Amino acid sequence: MAAIGFIGLGNMGLPMARNLVKAGHAVQVFDLNADAMAEAEAAGARCVTSTAAAAADVEAVVTALPAARHVRAVYLGAEGVLATALNHTLFIDCSTIDVETARALATEAEAAGQLFVDSPMSGGVGGATAGTLTFMVGGEDRAFARAEPILRAMGKNIFHAGKAGAGAAAKICNNMMLAIQMIAVSEGFNLAAKLGLEAQKLYDISSTATARCWSLNDYCPAPGPAPAAPSNRDYKPGFAADLMLKDLRIAMEAAQAAGAVTPMGAQAAQIYGMMAAAGMGGDDFSGVIRFLEGFRG
Ligand code: NAD
Repeated sequence: MAAIGFIGLGNMGLPMARNLVKAGHAVQVFDLNADAMAEAEAAGARCVTSTAAAAADVEAVVTALPAARHVRAVYLGAEGVLATALNHTLFIDCSTIDVETARALATEAEAAGQLFVDSPMSGGVGGATAGTLTFMVGGEDRAFARAEPILRAMGKNIFHAGKAGAGAAAKICNNMMLAIQMIAVSEGFNLAAKLGLEAQKLYDISSTATARCWSLNDYCPAPGPAPAAPSNRDYKPGFAADLMLKDLRIAMEAAQAAGAVTPMGAQAAQIYGMMAAAGMGGDDFSGVIRFLEGFRG
């Protein structure tokens, strides 16, 4: 079993760190949020007082931070973990960030004598808690080989997507598809309500018909049919709409730079932007159903 540092104990990071402890790893953790630290300690992790301390004297460091700017702040510069950790430490960044930043971090890591993989994840808080996440990993073969057994303690499907940045690319494509699907499912359930069709009936039919998808079957935005979904707890995240908006903006920048045509992705980015502007960015992204229902524009 390995000594592992963990930085970022949010909705995803905390249950992931718990699963590393459960698998027998010695886990030292840091987050800016004292409550999250206390919860990790109660689960058997060792709390330390800085990102550098979390990355010190370990074989691997896992990070699960909100966005690229947080990841850069933690990794780079004289006080950044790439500079302060022991040489040959493996860094596994599970945050959803842009492809360019992921590639730049891999280059910086190599220059600092470290190994880095971009390893964004899919499966939500449910998957993080159950240890069934999907990880899409970008990086060199030898880095992937070291990361895989650690990721196994937190996930079920571990894919080597390609070289540095390939994990980030897979993740933003996945989330652009997810955002579009969630809006589509929400529109369907809102229309059904106006037509006097019960949500449960539409669910029973569509979850076995051609509209079925994860947003409908597992994470239904209408309360009732999918008991574990955030729609049954007032859209408490889960995966916040603000984070989905971040991912869509990354996807739209990538699409523009690469010359890909993504009109539905652009529309989804606008809708989540309006939802955030309406003060609902902290709700789960499936709360878009409530935003659309109340929208009279
Ligand atoms: P979150 O906002 O709940 O957690 C992020 C944590 O990072 C917070 O606890 C915050 O205090 C901590 N943090 C920020 N800056 C820090 C620093 N400098 N040092 C230490 N800790 C710091 O986010 P989340 O929902 O856990 O998501 C984490 C990442 O995973 C994001 O990039 C998100 O897009 C991605 N993701 C989330 C989900 C989901 O369902 N929530 C699913 C897949 C991927």
